Amino acid sequence: MPKCLLIIDSVPTNRIRLAAALEAAHYDVVAVEAPQHVLRMPGLSPDLVLCGLHQEPPLRALHAIKTAGLSPETPVIFLDADASPLRRLQALKAGAREFMSRKIPDALLLARVRGLLREGEAERECARRRMTANSFGFADAPAAFDAPARVACVISPGVAPNLPDMLAAALPHRLDVLDMRETLRDAARGEDPDAYLVAPGTDDDALDAILPELRMRSHSRHAPVLVLHPDGDHDMALHALNLGASDIASDTSSGDELSLRIDEMLRRKRLRDQLRQTDEQSYRLAATDALTGLYNRRYAEAYLADLMMREHDSEQGHVVMLVDLDHFKEVNDTHGHGAGDLVLRQVAERLRDNLRAGDLVARYGGEEFLVVLPDASAEEGAYTAERLRRAVCGVPVGLENGTDIPVTASIGVGLGVDAAAVRPMLKTGTFDVALADPGVSFSRMLEAADSALYRAKNSGRNRVELANT
Ligand code: GH3
Ligand code: MG
Ligand code: MG
Repeated sequence: MPKCLLIIDSVPTNRIRLAAALEAAHYDVVAVEAPQHVLRMPGLSPDLVLCGLHQEPPLRALHAIKTAGLSPETPVIFLDADASPLRRLQALKAGAREFMSRKIPDALLLARVRGLLREGEAERECARRRMTANSFGFADAPAAFDAPARVACVISPGVAPNLPDMLAAALPHRLDVLDMRETLRDAARGEDPDAYLVAPGTDDDALDAILPELRMRSHSRHAPVLVLHPDGDHDMALHALNLGASDIASDTSSGDELSLRIDEMLRRKRLRDQLRQTDEQSYRLAATDALTGLYNRRYAEAYLADLMMREHDSEQGHVVMLVDLDHFKEVNDTHGHGAGDLVLRQVAERLRDNLRAGDLVARYGGEEFLVVLPDASAEEGAYTAERLRRAVCGVPVGLENGTDIPVTASIGVGLGVDAAAVRPMLKTGTFDVALADPGVSFSRMLEAADSALYRAKNSGRNRVELANT
């Protein structure tokens, strides 16, 4: 759906000219003479407002726009013949997103409009997901404490010599003045600043060297960049926006203005970071079991399918085991469902504590757990299973009322091992396994683990049985 832009300007020729430029860029445009006319258009909800000023104070104009029934988040760009640094500062302080001279080329205005619309989209998406997260019942993350950020200031030789001092006086953040090489080195090392201010020279290639690199590297990709350009150098400003700069400012800007712009970029970055965290939280919730915090069956099966597809680059196979609690129904029947839940949580913890970081443990069914040891030998598989069996039955699970519940588990181990890995062990007679196909499928390994589990149950429980595939 095309974005809707609202033009407010008391001069008809200004409105007509601007509307033509925006319509040519395929925006839906509504143009009015004054903010109060918006009141007569219920349902109008523009994505951005372009407001022409004629020397009136930006604060008053902004107030009129905000009281005309538009959403307070709607970004506002002011345009005026006099876009002096002082008026720009007043406008930004009042809450406008930009203040530009009416004389700037259309291409630059359109690039700035595009950037602000993109930001608005991200912000709305953020709000939507937060609402979904809330209705799913997970509390909003506590508002992040706005700790001072680290801002890297990258200045080309000979450009704006007073800039670092000016910024240091105005910016409530840590400021690191870096040259281009240092910037790229830090970005490569992951010592990423929260935001960048780049002040390139007119003839050097700092912009082309830095911006695409920062946007490409995973650590710096999300850090906003403000580009300082010589006043009136529209080409550089446009080039910066096209290369992915988040904001631009003329070198006539005061320290206060730059500080305001940097703070606004940081505020938006925090919002986007939060959005990414909500995504991660959703993935985590979709993949885990609420009672034990272990991965759930759905995740475990996707993981297994993926493991199976992966190029097998080691000599060893993988090991799959099923761990099933013995006579668990009796725990529920004797001590109640709550006690049963506590046992499940404790067993989950014991399994997790006795596995390596790269192993997978999932809750596979009610009182059944699935363990996968990627790239593990048959011997490792057997010893790990035995270690898990002991960890489960070692200490009874204690209830708050002082009752101790003894817990045991039976474990069936499926060995999808390569023939080469098993043969030496067969010679030593360690395990009773026959040769398996290399690259055996996991459904077959699961079947093997299941039949081994069946044997473990039938031969008295609280024991480990192995099976090849
Ligand atoms: P076996 O040694 O043959 O495995 O016997 P069992 O009693 O462990 O096996 P059975 O399959 O007969 O019973 C499993 C029990 O696990 C029945 C079910 O109520 C209980 N269960 C499944 N999920 C949960 C849960 O989330 N919480 C609790 N408390 N119990 C559960
Ligand atoms: Mg059981
Ligand atoms: Mg069971």
